[in-house]
Amino acid sequence: MREVLAITEQGASRTRTAIFGLNGRPLGAFLEHQTDSTNYQASITLIGDTLGKQARKFGGRIVAGSMAIAAEVNTEGVLTRAGALSCVGERPGVDLTHALDLPEGSVSVMNDIFAAAKSQQHINAQNGRFVDGVALTLSSGFNNAYFFADGCIQPRETGHDYYKEGATCACGKEGCYEAHISGKGIKRNRGLPSEEWLQYPLGQGEFIGGVSAAAIAIVERDRAGDLNPEELRWTGGVALGQPFLMQRVAANVRNHFGPTAPVFETATMGEHAGLHGALLDAQAHAMAA
Ligand SMILES: [Zn+2]
Repeated sequence: MREVLAITEQGASRTRTAIFGLNGRPLGAFLEHQTDSTNYQASITLIGDTLGKQARKFGGRIVAGSMAIAAEVNTEGVLTRAGALSCVGERPGVDLTHALDLPEGSVSVMNDIFAAAKSQQHINAQNGRFVDGVALTLSSGFNNAYFFADGCIQPRETGHDYYKEGATCACGKEGCYEAHISGKGIKRNRGLPSEEWLQYPLGQGEFIGGVSAAAIAIVERDRAGDLNPEELRWTGGVALGQPFLMQRVAANVRNHFGPTAPVFETATMGEHAGLHGALLDAQAHAMAA
């Protein structure tokens, strides 16, 4: 039986699962289902069952796995803040290990933007590009992670920093960046899905202003902390779905920083960035086993 890797990415609205060979080749299609954010145990069971079926279809035996999740994870693999997912205190890596009937420690879990940063860092290194940068995801929520030229990654929490009044956040605070610019924040405060709200000039103006302010604040804070992010790489449904508005944001960031502006990229880190980061993690796991 061939050995395979089980990968999953759980977002606030959808969950994807995929099976890969140890060499990183995908086996079959990526499956997608709606995230049941109200029932943690049911969603782990569904992910485990789906991955098991996918692996069996290709005559594979799962030897390691990794999960990227739209939630904050501590070094013990415990979810510490879960945004739209109702699973604080849970240990999805451990639970998915059991669901897949694997030995202890076979499935790791990480924040989804951490996974996307890992992906970008790996792709940069393959291109001989060793730089510091920031990976940002703008979808249901807003989050970012700092990747270093030397291979380290540091999760960041700026989505819930104060931007300005006029929007309440799911975290309970008023005025967070996330409340103003994320899909869930827009829905909550403007009463429309972001793709609708962003067709109106008012919505577009607020979005461009909010995302520009967030990007500039992130770079300025890093520079004040003696770091120098050379690139900002965006992913996530809202950023990827609004390439023209994001071009306006890029122009604002360039104007603000002038010749020292970081590279601003919305197109390169596609919707599979999180899955790719999880795959790299699972490969490292399988190698170490
Ligand atoms: Zn908030």
